[in-house]
Formats: sequence, structure tokens, C-alpha cells
Amino acid sequence: MSETLNPMHLDEFIGQKQIVDNLKIFIESAKKRHTVLDHVLFYGDSGLGKTTLSRLIADSFDATFKIINAATVESSASLAHVFACVEPGDVILIDEIHQLNPRCEEFLYPILQDYRMDFLIQYATSGKMVNLKLPPFTCIGATTAISQCSKPLRERFPIQFPLKPYTEEEIKAIISHHADILKLNMDEKAKTILASVCRYVPRRVNSHLRRLHDYQIVLDASCIDESFMMKYLGANELNIYGLDHVDQRIIKALIHADRPLGAATLASVCGIDENELIRLHEPYLLQQQLIRYTHQGRIVSEKGKAVFQSLSL
Ligand code: ADP
Repeated sequence: MSETLNPMHLDEFIGQKQIVDNLKIFIESAKKRHTVLDHVLFYGDSGLGKTTLSRLIADSFDATFKIINAATVESSASLAHVFACVEPGDVILIDEIHQLNPRCEEFLYPILQDYRMDFLIQYATSGKMVNLKLPPFTCIGATTAISQCSKPLRERFPIQFPLKPYTEEEIKAIISHHADILKLNMDEKAKTILASVCRYVPRRVNSHLRRLHDYQIVLDASCIDESFMMKYLGANELNIYGLDHVDQRIIKALIHADRPLGAATLASVCGIDENELIRLHEPYLLQQQLIRYTHQGRIVSEKGKAVFQSLSL
């Protein structure tokens, strides 16, 4: 079986220090009060650790951990099925909770607020509300699109944590830790390159480390250094800036436009959806200062031009 790269304890979770420190306090307090942790809402980009933190919360209580993906919940009956089986202390993660449809969302409100499920029993001419009391449990909502979560839904989660982008130092610490687990011998320069290729996202670190492991075994290399990394990047059409084809198209479009572009125009020039542009690509390009927002629209920065030129050489 392959080695797990998942942190097994909150103390092993690298980065997101403020969240981890607060969680430890809230968990300890709940334990001292012999109660469950209040419901938690995690939000932030994919791969930053929302599911991992949720599992670590469940582990801290030795609780059963269940995951539901909101996109697959078609009706309140499917939610009822999950919550009817809930045991005291269970931790239930609703992933991508912003994708719950409005009927399911409403059905969830009393479940979260009062540990109670409400059902409307329909008779010929009238209806009657019956309810089922649930044991205390912790619900964790996770979302990559907090702006799409309604206010009433957000208000049902007393604890809310935004996951922040990782710093280079934190990502390098994750790389070092996971490289040790995989027994990969990587030098500092290789770690710095990998951090940037991974856009400082832990999930990307794990998948690249596993592929690097494959390369190292087959090429029988004693150390992963800069030249090894460059060969790996070349073989996989990657670049040290962590830019994919769409990112490069965005920068190219802004260079060619030579004027600020609005989201709709830029997305259509690049052949992508506006939502995809705003949610998946722009945050990283802005964070890396490759593009900038102005009142008139997006423009490419001098750094963006230089990076694009170096990639086109
Ligand atoms: P999300 O739910 O936000 O999409 P995950 O929790 O699924 O992200 O994390 C993706 C992968 O990255 C997992 O394999 C997890 O073990 C790893 N990971 C995430 N955050 C960290 C971290 N801070 N330290 C170590 N590994 C992490």
C-alpha cells in the first residue's frame, strides 16, 4: 500500500496556524463540556485542506466521519436518509455546500439549528408537520464559493474559517515532510521549484511528489535537484511559474489587447467561461502579480509580460 501523505493529527497540519490554534481550543472546550463541537464552515480554494481539517476534527473526538457531496444531493429525501442515521457525536461534512438546491437548504436549517428534521405529511386536503429529534452531532460545511452560500445558510454555522493561501515557507515545509515520508531525497532548490510549480497548493504537492517518486525510482536518481526538476517539468509540459495553458492564454490575450479588458471579453477571447476565469485562474494570476485590476478592467503587469516572454522562448 502507498504511504499516506495525510496529516494524522492537528499538530501535524502545516500552515493555517490561526485556524488550527482556534480549532484546538474549541475542540478542547467542547470535550470539557462533554458536548459536540459547534457546526463549522470552511471556505477557500480547492486543495487547501478543508476535507483534511474536517477529518482531523472527527479524529479528535474519535467520532465517525461521513462525507456528502452537495452536488449529488438531489432531494431532501437524500438528506433525510443521511441524517436519519446520524449517531451522537458524528461529524458530517457537506462538501461544496453552496451547491445544495434551495429545497435541500431549507430542509437543512432545523437539522443544523435544533437537531430536528421536519417532514410535511400530505393528506388529501391538508398537511401536517411531523418532526424527528436527532442526537447532537457536528456538521461541517466546506465550499470553494462562499459568495454563493446564502446568508441564512452561513448563519447556521457558528464557527467559520477562511483558508488562506499558503506561503512559500509553509509549502516547502509540507514538501519536506511529505518527501521524507516517501523517502525522496530533494535539495532546497528542487523544493523551491516544486513549491512554485504547485502554486503553493498542498494537493498539487502530493500529486507531484508521487510522480517525482516514480521518476526517481525508474531513473534510479540519488537526489532530486534542479536539473532533475527541469527534466520532470519538460516531460510534463509544466513550468516553474505553475501556469497552465489557460493562464498563459489569459496573459497573452491581455498583452495583445494592449488595453484593459472586462471579465466577459477576456473570457471569450480565451475561449473559457467567465466563471472559470474569475474563480479558477484570476486569483493566482493576481496573487502572483502577473495581472492587475484597474477601474477599466484587467491589464497585464510588467512581471506578467516578462514571464510570458520567458515561456515563449
Ligand atoms: P480541500 O478539501 O480543501 O480540497 P484536502 O483537504 O482534500 O483539500 O487536501 C488535499 C490534499 O492535500 C490531501 O491529501 C491532504 O492530505 C493534503 N493537505 C492539505 N492541506 C495540508 C497541510 N496543511 N499539510 C499537509 N497536507 C495537506
